[in-house]
Amino acid sequence: MLKSEYGLFIGGRFVEPKSGQTFRTINPATEEAIATVSDAGEADVARAVDAARKALPKWSKTRPAERAKILFRIARRIQERSRELAVLESMNGGKPIKESRDEDLPLVAQHFFHHAGWCDKLDYAFAGAKPQPVGVCGQIIPWNFPLLMAAWKLAPALACGNTCVLKPAETTPLTALMLAEILQECGLPDGVVNIVTGGPDAGRAITALAAKGKIDKIAFTGSTEVGKAIAKTLAGSGVKLTLELGGKSPNIVFADAALDQAVEGVVSGIWFNQGHVCCAGSRLFIEESIHEDFIDRLRNRMRSLRVGDPLDKNTDVGAINSKAQLATIQRYLKAGSDEGAEKFEVACDLPKKGFWCRPCIFTGVQPSHTIAREEIFGPVLSVMTFRTPEEAVQRANNTTYGLSAGVWTEKAARALEMSNRLNAGVVWLNTFNRFDASAPFGGYKESGFGREGGRQGLSAYVKLGGGR
Ligand code: NAD
Repeated sequence: MLKSEYGLFIGGRFVEPKSGQTFRTINPATEEAIATVSDAGEADVARAVDAARKALPKWSKTRPAERAKILFRIARRIQERSRELAVLESMNGGKPIKESRDEDLPLVAQHFFHHAGWCDKLDYAFAGAKPQPVGVCGQIIPWNFPLLMAAWKLAPALACGNTCVLKPAETTPLTALMLAEILQECGLPDGVVNIVTGGPDAGRAITALAAKGKIDKIAFTGSTEVGKAIAKTLAGSGVKLTLELGGKSPNIVFADAALDQAVEGVVSGIWFNQGHVCCAGSRLFIEESIHEDFIDRLRNRMRSLRVGDPLDKNTDVGAINSKAQLATIQRYLKAGSDEGAEKFEVACDLPKKGFWCRPCIFTGVQPSHTIAREEIFGPVLSVMTFRTPEEAVQRANNTTYGLSAGVWTEKAARALEMSNRLNAGVVWLNTFNRFDASAPFGGYKESGFGREGGRQGLSAYVKLGGGR
C-alpha cells in the first residue's frame, strides 16, 4: 500500500535520511502531491554503499540455486502486485495505465524471471571463463520507465551475485520504493539492494564514490549529457561502466510496405509513453512516392488518439512527466516552426491541471533542422522523405545517436540489407518498440555502450577469469 512518507531503503529497512532533507513527489496529471520522499545526501549514499559492501561477501557466495529461488519469488510477487504497481507507475509518471499494465509490468516481471534462470547457468553463459561477481554496483536510472529500468539494472546484477545501490529519478521514485517492500517480503538479504532517492546530487555522490574505488561498477541510463559527465568522472579509475543514453531513431517506410500496419508502427514508435522513450522513432522517413498518401493516413489515425487521464484505460497519450520536460518540448515545438517546418497536431481539449502536450508531427523538415537532430523526448515526430534505399540509409545514419531503427517493407531481402547497414543497437522490422528480457538492448555512438538483457547484458555484471 502507498505510504505518505518514505525513508531511504538501506541495509534492508527504511531509514531516515541523515541529510534531513525530503521532497514531495507529485502526479504530473494533476500536480497534486502523492508522497514525501527522502533526498539522500552524500552521507546517506555512503551509508548505502557501506551496506552493499557489507552484504557482498555472503550474497556473492550464496548458492546460485538459492539466488535463483529469491529472484523467482520476486518475479512472482511483482506479478501478484502488478495492478498496484501499474497504478502507482501511472500516477507518479503520467503514462497511460494500459501501457504500465500491459507493457511495463509484464516486462518487469519477465526480467526477474529471465535472470532468475541465469543464476545457476553462468558457467555455461561464459564457458571456460569462470565468471565472478563484479562487486558493488551503483545504478542510476531515468524517469521514463521507472520500474522497468530498475528491473533492467537489478535483475542481472543480483543474478550474477553483485550487491546494488540504485538511484531512481527524482520525479518518479515511488515504484522503486514499492519494489523495496517486495524485496523485503521475498527475503532478499539485508543490504543486497539499497535504494537512495534524490536528484542529480545523489547521482553525483554515487559516481564520486565510484571514482574513489568504493563502488566497482556504474550502470547509468539517462541523458547523453550526464552520461558524458559520468564517463569523465570515471575515466582512468578502472570502474566498469555501461551507459544507456539518448536517441533520435529513424523509422523508415518503403512504398511496398503494408501501409496501415506501418501507420500503427509509427504511432507506437513516437506516441508510446508520450514519446518519453530513448529509442522512440522520432524521425520518420517516408519513400517520396507515398509521402502524401501516408501522411493522410497518419493524420487520420492521429485524430483517434485519446489524450488525457493516465488512469483511464482508454487513454492513448498521458501526461508529460514534469513541468521542466514540458518546457523543453515547447522550446522544440517553437524551433520547429521558426525553422520553417509545418506542424500538424491533434485537435483535442486538454485537462486544466497537469502537464500536457498534444501529439504532433512536423512535415517539411530538413536534416539540418534542430527537430531533426536533437532528442526531444516528447510526442513530436519529424517527417522527412527519401527516394532510394541508399538515400534512406544515409539519412537515417546521419545522426550522432545510434540506439534503434525501424524498417517497413514487404521485401525480406531489403529488410535484411537495411538492418545490416543501419548503425543502431536494435533494428525492428515491420514493428517498433518491442522489448524482451532475452534480447540485448543498447546503443552506438552517443547512445552509449554496453548491452542490457540476454546473455550479452550479463557480461556487464561479471568479471571473467580464464583468460577472457
Ligand atoms: P538525466 O540524465 O537528466 O537523469 C538520469 C538520472 O541521472 C536521474 O536519476 C538523475 O537524477 C541522475 N543524474 C542527473 N545528473 C547527474 C549527474 N551529474 N551525475 C549522476 N547522476 C545524475 O536523464 P532523464 O532526463 O532523467 O532521462 C531522459 C534521458 O534518458 C533521455 O535522454 C533518454 O533518451 C535517456 N534514456 C535512455 C535509455 C536507454 O536505454 N538508452 C532508456 C531510458 C532513457
